[in-house]
Amino acid sequence: MTDPQPIDSYRHQGLRKLLVQNIRQKGISDEQVLTAMEKVPRHFFFDSSFLEYAYEDKPFPIGAGQTISQPYTVAFQTRLLQIKKGEKVLEIGTGSGYQACILAEMGARVFTIERQKTLFDKTSKFLIQLGYNTIKTFYGDGYKGLPAFAPFDKMIVTAAAPYIPDLLLDQLRVDGTLVIPVGQYDTQIMTTIIKTASGSFEKKEHGVFRFVPMLGDRARDK
Ligand code: SAH
Repeated sequence: MTDPQPIDSYRHQGLRKLLVQNIRQKGISDEQVLTAMEKVPRHFFFDSSFLEYAYEDKPFPIGAGQTISQPYTVAFQTRLLQIKKGEKVLEIGTGSGYQACILAEMGARVFTIERQKTLFDKTSKFLIQLGYNTIKTFYGDGYKGLPAFAPFDKMIVTAAAPYIPDLLLDQLRVDGTLVIPVGQYDTQIMTTIIKTASGSFEKKEHGVFRFVPMLGDRARDK
């Protein structure tokens, strides 16, 4: 038996409009991003007992010690990606699947990797149930990327990365952009890296954010 589709009521739609207004007031003016955020029902990604928190501009626990990112952070990272329809985008850190749906709504071809098996299983199934069957989910270590599907036009890391993994840069196409929060401790610097035709990388920093840490990659552990 399949689970029933969750319901997107007028009340939820109204709350979502207010959330989008709130994000706009905080300085995000990219209409493509705001439209996608108005479309995707964030409350679908919450357990039913916590629905009232879904339209606050806050991160929230999604189980397995992980969180769904704050809506403002989702908007900020997505804006930095500058998505164009049809682009191939790799997400590291599927989590609830919310960010992947925002990218899919913007016309991206989304590939997303999750390190935790329980979350991977739950979210992969849920995305299909919601009808987002173009999103390709993978269970694995995001530090390694997805070489079999490279190159990617864009990449987004949604967990705190202690450093910028070379393997991800290798899998980025020329002129492609990687958006990644870099930092080992409490806070990270939102960073964009653009790969140039000469093979060099242009790096820019965009302020301080707070993410759950990237897991795995034991080889680098001290
Ligand atoms: N983008 C998510 C939020 C992600 S929270 C959303 O929209 O809900 C960060 C996620 O990254 C967690 O689910 C965590 O399990 C996952 N993660 C941590 N380390 C990872 C790694 N090395 N590879 C892939 N996913 C990883």
